[in-house]
Amino acid sequence: MPTLWLMEDQLSIELVRQLRPDRVLLVESRKHYAAWPFHKRRIVFQVSAIRHFAEELRAAGFGVHHFGLNRRPYLDSISAIRHVVRETGDSQFVVIAPSEHHCAEWINTIPETVGVDVRIIPNTLFLTNRDEFAAWARPLKRPVMEHFYRRMRVKLGVLVEADGSPAGGKWNFDKDNRKPPKRGMTFAPPLAISPDPITRTAMSDVEREFPTHPGSVEGFALPVTRADASRAWADFVKHRLPQFGDYEDAMLTAEPILNHSFISMLLNVGLLSPMKLLRDIEAAHLAGKVPLNSAEGIIRQIIGWREYVYGIYWSFMPEYRSRNARGSRLDLPDWFWTGKTEMNCLSRCISGVVDRAYSHHIQRLMVICNFATLAALSPQAVNDWFFAMYVDSFDWVVTPNVVGMGMHADHGTIATKPYISSAAYINRMSDYCDDCRFDPAERVGATACPFNYLFWTFLHHFAAQFKGNPRMTMMLKNAAKIDAEQMKRMMQQRKEFIEVHVRGKVRQA
Ligand SMILES: Cc1cc2nc3c(=O)[nH]c(=O)nc-3n(C[C@H](O)[C@H](O)[C@H](O)COP(=O)(O)OP(=O)(O)OC[C@H]3O[C@@H](n4cnc5c(N)ncnc54)[C@H](O)[C@@H]3O)c2cc1C
Ligand code: SF4
Repeated sequence: MPTLWLMEDQLSIELVRQLRPDRVLLVESRKHYAAWPFHKRRIVFQVSAIRHFAEELRAAGFGVHHFGLNRRPYLDSISAIRHVVRETGDSQFVVIAPSEHHCAEWINTIPETVGVDVRIIPNTLFLTNRDEFAAWARPLKRPVMEHFYRRMRVKLGVLVEADGSPAGGKWNFDKDNRKPPKRGMTFAPPLAISPDPITRTAMSDVEREFPTHPGSVEGFALPVTRADASRAWADFVKHRLPQFGDYEDAMLTAEPILNHSFISMLLNVGLLSPMKLLRDIEAAHLAGKVPLNSAEGIIRQIIGWREYVYGIYWSFMPEYRSRNARGSRLDLPDWFWTGKTEMNCLSRCISGVVDRAYSHHIQRLMVICNFATLAALSPQAVNDWFFAMYVDSFDWVVTPNVVGMGMHADHGTIATKPYISSAAYINRMSDYCDDCRFDPAERVGATACPFNYLFWTFLHHFAAQFKGNPRMTMMLKNAAKIDAEQMKRMMQQRKEFIEVHVRGKVRQA
């Protein structure tokens, strides 16, 4: 095989061993990283992982053409490709189908613009075949994740009995995974890896090349090699997976990760493989070390949600990204880039993202996207923010999660109802309200929690859109019970809030 050109999310030595290319091309495209306000940690993570991967390939005997961020004049993939052709005389490239739509479109233009042959082969880093998924999903009004997930369990033979029934008699233990947190609970932290010289160089390269990008590289401690990724995973299986399910939806100020695995970035670039994770989880469960609700809970995330959003993305892109079911148009307030807001839940979650380029699922869904939906922020602006700010972001995973799951802007393809709530949910599932200047029990007035009047006025405003949706009946009934005078006051307070805190007429400190 000629030159295998791997993207930054295809760092799999198993793949290279299978394909046995003459050489591997790896590019840290400065042009790409400069084109978007990516969090500095995201760039450090990817660049360091690519550099370590180049070393790993060389050690395994493969020829590698590696173009670093600052290897002038090769600051983008096209100049790197031209250089490889000049050096090797070989103008044939093999590319594993990119995970992102815009990247796939761009690769299709390369033979004509650069004058090389590009052969695209299927992407086997995911367990789902895009065409098979699309054939199932496209004809359906709502391709339900749970149906897909059950089929995946059977297909892969994970937690299923010989007769095809689910282990433990149930496919889904989600109801056991929603315990509210207790104040003062502590959790084992994820494995922290001290930066080695390659990572330290990546950190200083990123500081120098992208000084105005958000975030800081200080305190970077993520795994960037396959060996460290496996150690971090084994540490999770031993110390946090046994309780993973119980507090999956909880949020605590002092515990930003709780029992979450903190592996999304490792999976997404190919340092961990989903099949290996499944087998490890199943083995730990069968050895009696991990209860079924935790094992099923994380398996559902990995072969259910993760594979499902990838399938949805490839079934409905590119139009999916521009869906905006309620015509929400507001741009993001400034404090999305700093976390400086008086709403303590948003302040904690967003400043965590500014600091670490990470927050766990419920913070993304039930705090940040909940607010964005209720305040009618533009789904595309929110999508862009998630794409820029998170260490684990790639378009295939951000877009369905934000436009679909998080903001219900996709006309309900992914979720039967919007994931929205008043302050009651946040108060029950976190300790954020304890230190907030707003009162989660108040609906109107100077100390009323904005989530309350945003929530009730949202339901009032969109009642017709959600009418007939059985999962919204209770919420709509409760909204309808609010007397007209109180609704009017909430509407007024909503208007003032949006003017001051979202449109940003008065900036917060
Ligand atoms: C608005 C929003 C934006 C998101 N953006 C991203 C993103 O940029 N990158 C990303 O990988 N995930 C994203 N997710 C999904 C999920 O929140 C993260 O995968 C998870 O929080 C990562 O933390 P973890 O590794 O500790 O996950 P855990 O809670 O330990 O779950 C284990 C693994 O399951 C997978 N997973 C779980 N839920 C999802 C999901 N909904 N979609 C895809 N994979 C899932 C991830 O690979 C994750 O590592 C987003 C979710 C929402 C609601
Ligand atoms: S009171 Fe409202 S704004 Fe404050 S932390 Fe609770 S939910 Fe968030």
